[in-house]
Amino acid sequence: MSITFEEKDCIVNTGNLYNLKRFAGKAKNKEELTVGFIGGSITQGFSSSAFDKCYAYRVYENIKNRYNNPSVQYVNAGIGATDSEFACARVSEDLLKYEPDLVFVEFSVNDESEPHFRETYEGLIRQIINYREDVAVVLIHSVFYDSGKNAEREHLKIARHYELPSVSMRSSIYDMLLKGELENTDITEDNLHPNDFGHKLMADVICKVFDLVDSKEENSLEEKNEIPVPLTKNGYVHSVCYHNDKSEAIILNEGFVPDLSEKTGITDCFKAGWLSYDSGDRIVFNVVGENFAAQYRRTIERPAPVVCAYVDGDYENGIILDGSFDEDWGDKLCLTTLAEGLPYGEHIIEFETVESYIEIDPDTEEIISEEGSPFMLVSVVASDSKEREIIHLDPVCTHNIWGGSRLREDFNYNYEGDDLGECWGISAHPNGDGTVKSGKFKGMKLSELFKDYPELFNNNGEDDRFPLLTKIIDAKDDLSIQVHPDDEYAGKNENGSLGKMECWYVLDAPENATLVAGHNAKTKEELESMIHEGRWNDFIREIPVKKGDFIQIDPGTVHAIKGGILLLETQQNSDITYRVYDYDRLQNGKKRELHVEKSIDVITVPAKSVDDSVLHFADTEKNTLVKMYECKYYRVYKADVDDALEIDIPADYVLVSVTEGEGFIDGDAVKKGDHMILPFGYGKAVVTGNLQIILSTK
Ligand code: ZN
Repeated sequence: MSITFEEKDCIVNTGNLYNLKRFAGKAKNKEELTVGFIGGSITQGFSSSAFDKCYAYRVYENIKNRYNNPSVQYVNAGIGATDSEFACARVSEDLLKYEPDLVFVEFSVNDESEPHFRETYEGLIRQIINYREDVAVVLIHSVFYDSGKNAEREHLKIARHYELPSVSMRSSIYDMLLKGELENTDITEDNLHPNDFGHKLMADVICKVFDLVDSKEENSLEEKNEIPVPLTKNGYVHSVCYHNDKSEAIILNEGFVPDLSEKTGITDCFKAGWLSYDSGDRIVFNVVGENFAAQYRRTIERPAPVVCAYVDGDYENGIILDGSFDEDWGDKLCLTTLAEGLPYGEHIIEFETVESYIEIDPDTEEIISEEGSPFMLVSVVASDSKEREIIHLDPVCTHNIWGGSRLREDFNYNYEGDDLGECWGISAHPNGDGTVKSGKFKGMKLSELFKDYPELFNNNGEDDRFPLLTKIIDAKDDLSIQVHPDDEYAGKNENGSLGKMECWYVLDAPENATLVAGHNAKTKEELESMIHEGRWNDFIREIPVKKGDFIQIDPGTVHAIKGGILLLETQQNSDITYRVYDYDRLQNGKKRELHVEKSIDVITVPAKSVDDSVLHFADTEKNTLVKMYECKYYRVYKADVDDALEIDIPADYVLVSVTEGEGFIDGDAVKKGDHMILPFGYGKAVVTGNLQIILSTK
């Protein structure tokens, strides 16, 4: 049967085709591109006879052939019987981490035609378009072929608002059914899932968009730069599934058993939750968000227990979650909204099994009769309207008499001179206040951001300034022998300034490199005489270091970086340094000021042992986050990535510096020398590529 479609019947919203045209141009140039699909069972290929008969695969093949580009990659993130609300919680993990250049979205039969799904659909769309400014998006409206029902009306509001091209099976294929040009049985068995021929027609309809794009002249389209303000309350733009690996969210568990069986792929979607067999089982979560839902299995292997869910202790208004599914097509991953539009923050979500068909021996607790199935709580989903973005910073470099040229040459910082000593990568200190490089805070100083947007740092007044500072230091020559005071001494003697605890991760060091950490004086008297008499060789303790070493410098520790060493320093946000000795060097014809008496005041006697001072992290396991050090002021981590790493550090915010290589953090391209902050509530970040990162938190 040969069917042809009119473009006007297929494309119900043309939108802005700039990103699609750009995608087509890259495809023609044989660039490596990835095409991704997210949706329900139709996208998954349900009712097609093979994976390559599904509409998604056919569209992908059409793109490869049309642009004669065999290197285009295919990602299918379809999961049957799931809607855009669940997609909000899984789009990063299931799709965006593969860095798609073009994304198709198919939820118009799984979402209902209700405002709730306008909001969840918007949350999904915003996550996709926020992920990368050049991503191309096409919206697909599937339809029930008996009733013509779908959520197109709600979804089109989003399509128009974001000027996204969208294609409809209702105004094309379904319309032909109405006119008698096609029979339902030609294209579908169940009036929902297309058969192979139905999938082919769907692909034909979708590919009309590419016909249109290819008919446009290069440069005839205008780029769309701004993402508009949300149309809805936008409460699903950030969404997290709490599975059993996030045990920190559970405040009580009586009887819910974690399901630790292995998950085999994205459609193996009942995994990583908890099983309940018995009435009275309880599990209580404390999670952050505005909107909350429970994800659970409804099974055809009836009966299964019934669970009641409560939000914030409202026991009058429990929500019933029935584990039994009165159908025969299979188990369903059900997503039930428990609360919407609560104030952003921590909320208590509680589940109690109220009815069970499984008999348990009260003495041995063994199952006597297992007639049905356990209840499977798959996850608690917490969503909110806080749009997170990684805060990328433009650092400040300093000129120092001991500095070199590596910050310019190896790290590509845009500074002149061969005396570049320090790059203040993540700093809100007045002597080197970083500037936000991109995104909605572009151009702001980090100090302003910290003051004006405390919610980005979960700072409820406890910090009056950004507490940390990350630097890269290139010592071409030796730095002066110095010491820093602690908070108490600095507060009293330096106008309320903070003291300075610091640590070093050695990025590079010549052979037989040493640095100064500690001294050899046994008593305060010996210390004073060594310093006053200038017996520097007796006084200074040099220790050998190599690339990958970590050195913690407590306040009161005499220290100096020696020539040839390149390192990353994490420190308290302070610039109070007491110089003990400067090798009698001259700067502009003068010696730099020394602070001998203050130094003697604060130097710890005797010094910490060498073994306690240097730790080794050169060859840590790849794709693994390693905590190098933890003290009162900071935690410092390192990771070498050659594939992928998930970062999920429990902290208000995380400072990230790329010290080697390049890759992506949640789709943002990053390279050696880049510095950024993952703000409060950012959640899990996925790092991919070939790179080394050093992270620190308060
Ligand atoms: Zn120092």
